[in-house]
Amino acid sequence: MRIVAFFLPVFALLMAGAGVFIAWEVKDLRLDDVEVVLARDYPANGQPAAAETPVQPQLRPGQTVCQGILHQADRGKPREVPAIYKQQREVLGIGIVGVESIDARAFDAAAETIHTMFDNNPALLQPLVEQGAYVVIADTGQEVDQLPEFACLKDELGDDFFTHVCGIADHADYPVVAVNEADLTGDRRGPCHGLNVLYHELGHLVQTWSLSPPDYFEVKYLYQDALDAGKYYRQYAATNANEYFADGTQSYFLHAEPTGSKDRAWLKHYDPKLYELLARIYGE
Ligand SMILES: [Zn+2]
Repeated sequence: MRIVAFFLPVFALLMAGAGVFIAWEVKDLRLDDVEVVLARDYPANGQPAAAETPVQPQLRPGQTVCQGILHQADRGKPREVPAIYKQQREVLGIGIVGVESIDARAFDAAAETIHTMFDNNPALLQPLVEQGAYVVIADTGQEVDQLPEFACLKDELGDDFFTHVCGIADHADYPVVAVNEADLTGDRRGPCHGLNVLYHELGHLVQTWSLSPPDYFEVKYLYQDALDAGKYYRQYAATNANEYFADGTQSYFLHAEPTGSKDRAWLKHYDPKLYELLARIYGE
């Protein structure tokens, strides 16, 4: 007992000393780490380093969706689109463009889609018109990565993505969407098996550019509520709140499957809250 009683304080002192030593080392390590970080920004004299080249966001020549900054359209100036689009129409202030070979019926279908969505909705339309929104109709054999605006996505998304994509409105740095001519004309050889997915794609633009902030967040809440309720299991709408809104838009105006299923009546029954929101946004 006495031996233990003698060694206990010594042991305690040793432990305390070791603790201080370890703490000191850790502190030193942290200081070193901090200095490594700072050394990149500050030269030895402690003065902030002058920026070598000021980086200003600039639009690259020719618009693409990968520029990472919002493209503000110049009011009153004609919309700029790549020169390959020899065919151009204007419907309610939204452009429809495509290469020379595109069937006029595809333009008609796109025009009708725009009318269906926006005839009664000048408030939704206005921000899109102001920002020079346009629809690209891809030729039957033209994949999305062959369109100048979207080719830049190839590195990010890979070839596999483009062999499956029906239409695209993603990365909406500026409001542009692309759909395939075959899908617009109901040709089942289209990448979306003849389904007019322009409703879905324009739904993305509405969500990004036209919704009020409360409605924008309401979509996110409804999306989470739907997932919590076990809805949309393994369905595309479950991907994220954006696809949820876009596919809801597709169901609201047409149907979300090439077979004709998931139409407005389905939506009203399956997801009544989303239906109510869409009815308020788009009108009944
Ligand atoms: Zn989508």
